[in-house]
Amino acid sequence: MRITVLLSLLTLTVAFAFTPRSLTVPRRPFNSRGSALNGKKIQLLISDTGGGHRASAISIRDQISALDPSVSCDIVDVYTTYCKVFPFNSYPDLYKLMVTLFDGVLWKLFYEGGDTDPGLWFNQLLTETFCYSEFKKCLLRPGLNLDPSLKDGTEKYSVPEDGGRPADMYVSVHPLTQSLPLKILQETKVNSPFITVCTDLGSASQSWFDYRCDKIIVPTEVLREKAVRTCRKFMMRDSLMMTSTPKEYDTEKVEVIGLPIRSGFEPSKDKAEYKTDLNLDPSKPNVLIVGGGDGMGGIVETANACISSLNGLASVTVICGSNAEAKKNLEGLHGSNGDVLVTGYTPSMPSYMNSADLMVTKAGPGSIAEASVCGLPIIMYSFLPGQEEGNISLVEEEGWGKYVKDPAEIGRLAKVWLEDGEGIEKRKERARKGGRQEAARDIAKVLLEELELCS
Ligand code: UDP
Repeated sequence: MRITVLLSLLTLTVAFAFTPRSLTVPRRPFNSRGSALNGKKIQLLISDTGGGHRASAISIRDQISALDPSVSCDIVDVYTTYCKVFPFNSYPDLYKLMVTLFDGVLWKLFYEGGDTDPGLWFNQLLTETFCYSEFKKCLLRPGLNLDPSLKDGTEKYSVPEDGGRPADMYVSVHPLTQSLPLKILQETKVNSPFITVCTDLGSASQSWFDYRCDKIIVPTEVLREKAVRTCRKFMMRDSLMMTSTPKEYDTEKVEVIGLPIRSGFEPSKDKAEYKTDLNLDPSKPNVLIVGGGDGMGGIVETANACISSLNGLASVTVICGSNAEAKKNLEGLHGSNGDVLVTGYTPSMPSYMNSADLMVTKAGPGSIAEASVCGLPIIMYSFLPGQEEGNISLVEEEGWGKYVKDPAEIGRLAKVWLEDGEGIEKRKERARKGGRQEAARDIAKVLLEELELCS
């Protein structure tokens, strides 16, 4: 019995290894017929690993609605909504566990192993084996999310009376939603364009970049180079496997626009007013502490060290995201301290960031891009090994933030920076230089243009 299973697995593995990624019909190029976009539907593929992918997808959806309300957007966490098999159906929880366990070492092994060519191949093999029909169901679903602000669940979809049709465009906003969707769309001969919007910043996994995408939008020049390199490599490999003449990858498919963030981060009033709105003392500087959407990376120790070092010199706001335990812990310790404000997940990030003079944060791409628009200097206290290391170098090179690991040292540095009025103003200016509030709008414009070209 065991031998039969092993032999089947081996056959499957060998068959996959020699199956080129592009054996199927080439994707239809954009044409220029042009037509109104009324009633068109875009499906945005994400997975809720961290808070950044959904935040970016929402920002794109909102800008599309603002530019053309007749186009509908469907944001779907394809893994948790559709996949039934572990670990695929538990990605968000597993992600939280892996980044926390053993100080992120487990995540480092998983991330760096998965970013090698064999790692990518193995992940594709597993996903294709266990999630093919579920992904297909998602991609071909005719209905739309009734309430796009809610997390997905098939019961929340409306299916039109005429049975409806699949999406007119697919946009991947996650590194693990390219390869399998592209394969399924090719095999089912759905010719809707497929575009990737990369939401990493200074470094990114190869899995983001698939040469079969009609377009790849990246936030930085470093990632443009990586996208081109990766697409060239896999295009060459696949054409060699098909024993055809290697084709040159069209580098114009990769475009640097920026990281899509929600609207409202650009300050619209004085910092003092933002502070007053949050019941903070407007005469004191405010230090904001945030650990991404999940309040990760030792947020409690970091907050405690900052509160004790700043000791009344500044107010301290801690946003624990979905980390309910950290919130309870910090409220218990500092609930009666008038200089400390602790909150759980908030949709009002723009107000919190604009009320702050300094942010102590995990080096998440979303938080960094948002802080930059607010002109908010940052001390980065944690990062996801491999995935977020490049973000640290990027901010340090731009001169508006610094990575410090030790909580006591973070507390000390926060005090030094706040006391150095001139220094902090320079950092604020440098932060503002790279900020791009309009990135989501520009991306939405590109998507609508592509959609029009394909209509
Ligand atoms: N965020 C939020 N409310 C919170 C905490 C975080 O809206 O209470 C948002 C934050 O503004 C950012 C995202 O969650 O857009 C976090 O993304 P990032 O890339 O920094 O980290 P991730 O959580 O994806 O690891």
